[in-house]
Amino acid sequence: MLDADFFRRWMTATAVSVGHEAERLTALDSPIGDADHGSNLRRGFNAVATAVEEEAPATPGTVLVLAGSRLISTVGGASGPLYGTLLRRTGKALGEAAEVSAEQFTDALRIGVDAVRALGGAAPGDKTMIDALVPAVDALAESFAAARTAAEQGALATTPLQARKGRASYLGERSIGHQDPGATSAALLIATLAETAGE
Ligand code: ADP
Ligand code: MG
Ligand code: MG
Repeated sequence: MLDADFFRRWMTATAVSVGHEAERLTALDSPIGDADHGSNLRRGFNAVATAVEEEAPATPGTVLVLAGSRLISTVGGASGPLYGTLLRRTGKALGEAAEVSAEQFTDALRIGVDAVRALGGAAPGDKTMIDALVPAVDALAESFAAARTAAEQGALATTPLQARKGRASYLGERSIGHQDPGATSAALLIATLAETAGE
Protein backbone atom coordinates (compact mmCIF):
# COMPACT_ATOMS: atom_id res chain seq x y z
CA MET A 1 0.00 0.00 0.00
CA LEU A 2 1.09 3.56 -0.78
CA ASP A 3 0.76 6.18 1.97
CA ALA A 4 1.17 9.97 2.14
CA ASP A 5 4.88 9.58 2.87
CA PHE A 6 5.32 7.65 -0.38
CA PHE A 7 3.76 10.48 -2.37
CA ARG A 8 5.79 13.14 -0.50
CA ARG A 9 8.97 11.21 -1.28
CA TRP A 10 7.91 10.94 -4.94
CA MET A 11 7.51 14.73 -5.13
CA THR A 12 10.82 15.52 -3.39
CA ALA A 13 12.64 12.95 -5.58
CA THR A 14 11.12 14.62 -8.63
CA ALA A 15 12.37 18.02 -7.47
CA VAL A 16 15.90 16.56 -7.17
CA SER A 17 15.69 14.84 -10.57
CA VAL A 18 14.29 17.91 -12.33
CA GLY A 19 17.07 19.96 -10.72
CA HIS A 20 19.71 17.61 -12.11
CA GLU A 21 18.11 17.52 -15.57
CA ALA A 22 16.98 21.16 -15.85
CA GLU A 23 19.70 22.15 -18.29
CA ARG A 24 18.96 19.19 -20.56
CA LEU A 25 15.20 19.94 -20.49
CA THR A 26 15.84 23.56 -21.37
CA ALA A 27 18.24 22.50 -24.15
CA LEU A 28 15.51 20.28 -25.62
CA ASP A 29 13.11 23.25 -25.43
CA SER A 30 15.57 25.44 -27.34
CA PRO A 31 15.18 24.24 -30.96
CA ILE A 32 11.40 23.63 -30.76
CA GLY A 33 10.32 26.00 -27.98
CA ASP A 34 11.42 28.98 -25.92
CA ALA A 35 14.20 27.37 -23.87
CA ASP A 36 12.49 27.52 -20.48
CA HIS A 37 11.15 24.03 -19.76
CA GLY A 38 13.91 23.09 -17.31
CA SER A 39 13.76 26.38 -15.44
CA ASN A 40 9.96 26.25 -15.38
CA LEU A 41 9.90 22.79 -13.83
CA ARG A 42 12.81 23.43 -11.46
CA ARG A 43 10.98 26.43 -10.03
CA GLY A 44 7.71 24.49 -9.89
CA PHE A 45 8.97 21.30 -8.27
CA ASN A 46 11.15 23.20 -5.79
CA ALA A 47 7.95 24.94 -4.65
CA VAL A 48 6.19 21.55 -4.55
CA ALA A 49 8.97 20.00 -2.42
CA THR A 50 8.89 22.90 0.03
CA ALA A 51 5.09 22.78 0.29
CA VAL A 52 4.80 19.04 0.90
CA GLU A 53 7.58 19.16 3.51
CA GLU A 54 6.22 22.20 5.36
CA GLU A 55 2.52 21.39 5.17
CA ALA A 56 2.97 17.61 5.44
CA PRO A 57 -0.46 16.68 4.04
CA ALA A 58 -1.70 13.48 5.68
CA THR A 59 -3.23 11.55 2.78
CA PRO A 60 -2.02 10.56 -0.71
CA GLY A 61 -4.80 12.61 -2.29
CA THR A 62 -3.99 15.81 -0.40
CA VAL A 63 -0.25 15.49 -1.18
CA LEU A 64 -0.96 15.38 -4.92
CA VAL A 65 -3.63 18.12 -4.84
CA LEU A 66 -1.21 20.41 -2.98
CA ALA A 67 1.60 19.57 -5.40
CA GLY A 68 -0.58 20.27 -8.43
CA SER A 69 -1.78 23.57 -6.99
CA ARG A 70 1.81 24.70 -6.39
CA LEU A 71 2.76 23.86 -9.99
CA ILE A 72 -0.16 25.89 -11.31
CA SER A 73 0.73 28.89 -9.13
CA THR A 74 4.49 28.88 -9.80
CA VAL A 75 4.94 27.77 -13.44
CA GLY A 76 3.99 30.31 -16.07
CA GLY A 77 4.44 28.07 -19.11
CA ALA A 78 2.05 25.56 -20.62
CA SER A 79 3.58 22.77 -18.57
CA GLY A 80 2.48 24.29 -15.23
CA PRO A 81 -1.29 24.02 -15.71
CA LEU A 82 -0.84 20.68 -17.52
CA TYR A 83 1.29 18.98 -14.83
CA GLY A 84 -0.73 20.79 -12.17
CA THR A 85 -3.92 19.32 -13.58
CA LEU A 86 -2.30 15.88 -13.80
CA LEU A 87 -1.42 15.87 -10.10
CA ARG A 88 -4.56 17.64 -8.84
CA ARG A 89 -6.95 15.36 -10.72
CA THR A 90 -5.01 12.25 -9.78
CA GLY A 91 -5.08 13.38 -6.15
CA LYS A 92 -8.80 14.12 -6.22
CA ALA A 93 -9.44 10.68 -7.71
CA LEU A 94 -7.59 9.09 -4.77
CA GLY A 95 -10.20 10.53 -2.39
CA GLU A 96 -9.54 10.65 1.35
CA ALA A 97 -7.93 7.25 1.86
CA ALA A 98 -4.87 7.13 4.16
CA GLU A 99 -3.33 4.45 1.95
CA VAL A 100 -4.01 3.38 -1.62
CA SER A 101 -3.13 0.27 -3.57
CA ALA A 102 -1.04 0.35 -6.74
CA GLU A 103 -4.23 -0.54 -8.64
CA GLN A 104 -6.12 2.39 -7.12
CA PHE A 105 -3.24 4.68 -7.97
CA THR A 106 -3.17 3.41 -11.57
CA ASP A 107 -6.88 4.13 -11.96
CA ALA A 108 -6.44 7.61 -10.47
CA LEU A 109 -3.44 8.43 -12.66
CA ARG A 110 -5.47 7.47 -15.73
CA ILE A 111 -8.10 10.01 -14.67
CA GLY A 112 -5.32 12.58 -14.27
CA VAL A 113 -3.88 11.83 -17.72
CA ASP A 114 -7.35 12.05 -19.25
CA ALA A 115 -7.76 15.50 -17.62
CA VAL A 116 -4.48 16.63 -19.22
CA ARG A 117 -5.77 15.43 -22.57
CA ALA A 118 -9.03 17.32 -22.05
CA LEU A 119 -7.26 20.53 -21.00
CA GLY A 120 -4.57 20.59 -23.69
CA GLY A 121 -6.44 18.81 -26.47
CA ALA A 122 -3.42 16.62 -27.28
CA ALA A 123 -3.79 13.03 -28.43
CA PRO A 124 -1.05 10.39 -28.55
CA GLY A 125 1.26 11.15 -31.48
CA ASP A 126 0.97 14.94 -31.17
CA LYS A 127 4.52 15.16 -29.71
CA THR A 128 3.70 16.20 -26.15
CA MET A 129 3.97 14.90 -22.59
CA ILE A 130 0.93 12.73 -23.46
CA ASP A 131 3.25 10.50 -25.54
CA ALA A 132 5.08 9.47 -22.35
CA LEU A 133 2.14 9.57 -19.91
CA VAL A 134 -0.30 7.36 -21.84
CA PRO A 135 2.11 4.40 -22.32
CA ALA A 136 3.23 4.80 -18.70
CA VAL A 137 -0.27 4.52 -17.28
CA ASP A 138 -0.99 1.57 -19.61
CA ALA A 139 2.13 -0.24 -18.33
CA LEU A 140 1.52 0.63 -14.69
CA ALA A 141 -0.89 -2.31 -14.38
CA GLU A 142 2.20 -4.49 -14.80
CA SER A 143 4.72 -2.68 -12.57
CA PHE A 144 6.29 0.68 -11.75
CA ALA A 145 9.43 -0.45 -13.59
CA ALA A 146 7.41 -1.28 -16.71
CA ALA A 147 5.79 2.16 -16.55
CA ARG A 148 9.21 3.78 -16.34
CA THR A 149 10.46 1.90 -19.42
CA ALA A 150 7.27 2.69 -21.35
CA ALA A 151 7.52 6.40 -20.52
CA GLU A 152 11.19 6.54 -21.57
CA GLN A 153 10.39 4.77 -24.86
CA GLY A 154 7.43 7.10 -25.39
CA ALA A 155 9.65 10.15 -24.91
CA LEU A 156 12.28 8.83 -27.36
CA ALA A 157 9.55 8.05 -29.89
CA THR A 158 8.55 11.74 -30.05
CA THR A 159 11.73 12.61 -32.02
CA PRO A 160 10.44 11.74 -35.54
CA LEU A 161 6.98 13.21 -34.88
CA GLN A 162 5.68 16.56 -36.08
CA ALA A 163 4.27 18.62 -33.19
CA ARG A 164 0.54 19.34 -33.33
CA LYS A 165 0.15 21.07 -29.93
CA GLY A 166 2.03 23.69 -27.96
CA ARG A 167 4.75 26.08 -29.14
CA ALA A 168 6.57 23.39 -31.11
CA SER A 169 3.55 23.09 -33.42
CA TYR A 170 4.26 26.63 -34.71
CA LEU A 171 7.36 25.16 -36.40
CA GLY A 172 5.37 22.71 -38.49
CA GLU A 173 7.67 20.20 -40.19
CA ARG A 174 10.71 21.85 -38.60
CA SER A 175 9.65 20.31 -35.29
CA ILE A 176 10.58 16.88 -36.71
CA GLY A 177 13.86 15.42 -35.48
CA HIS A 178 13.80 16.82 -31.94
CA GLN A 179 12.75 15.01 -28.76
CA ASP A 180 9.86 16.72 -27.00
CA PRO A 181 10.91 18.38 -23.72
CA GLY A 182 7.59 17.73 -21.97
CA ALA A 183 7.58 14.03 -22.89
CA THR A 184 11.14 13.90 -21.52
CA SER A 185 10.16 15.49 -18.20
CA ALA A 186 7.12 13.21 -17.98
CA ALA A 187 9.48 10.25 -18.28
CA LEU A 188 11.52 11.72 -15.39
CA LEU A 189 8.35 11.98 -13.28
CA ILE A 190 7.58 8.30 -13.92
CA ALA A 191 11.21 7.28 -13.32
CA THR A 192 11.18 8.90 -9.88
CA LEU A 193 7.86 7.14 -9.18
CA ALA A 194 9.51 3.78 -9.89
CA GLU A 195 12.55 4.73 -7.79
CA THR A 196 10.32 5.75 -4.90
CA ALA A 197 8.59 2.37 -5.15
CA GLY A 198 12.00 0.69 -4.96
CA GLU A 199 11.92 -0.46 -8.59
P1 ADP B 1 5.91 26.71 -22.79
O1 ADP B 1 5.81 25.99 -24.10
O2 ADP B 1 4.69 27.50 -22.47
O3 ADP B 1 7.19 27.49 -22.68
P2 ADP B 1 7.11 24.56 -21.27
O4 ADP B 1 8.33 24.81 -22.09
O5 ADP B 1 7.31 24.51 -19.81
O6 ADP B 1 5.95 25.57 -21.64
O7 ADP B 1 6.49 23.14 -21.67
C1 ADP B 1 6.48 22.68 -23.01
C2 ADP B 1 5.95 21.27 -23.06
O8 ADP B 1 4.57 21.26 -22.69
C3 ADP B 1 5.99 20.65 -24.44
O9 ADP B 1 7.24 20.02 -24.69
C4 ADP B 1 4.84 19.66 -24.42
O10 ADP B 1 5.27 18.36 -23.98
C5 ADP B 1 3.92 20.22 -23.37
N1 ADP B 1 2.71 20.76 -23.98
C6 ADP B 1 2.56 21.96 -24.59
N2 ADP B 1 1.30 22.12 -25.02
C7 ADP B 1 0.63 20.97 -24.69
C8 ADP B 1 -0.72 20.51 -24.86
N3 ADP B 1 -1.65 21.25 -25.46
N4 ADP B 1 -1.03 19.27 -24.38
C9 ADP B 1 -0.10 18.51 -23.77
N5 ADP B 1 1.18 18.90 -23.57
C10 ADP B 1 1.55 20.11 -24.04
MG1 MG C 1 9.02 26.42 -23.12
MG1 MG D 1 7.60 29.42 -21.99
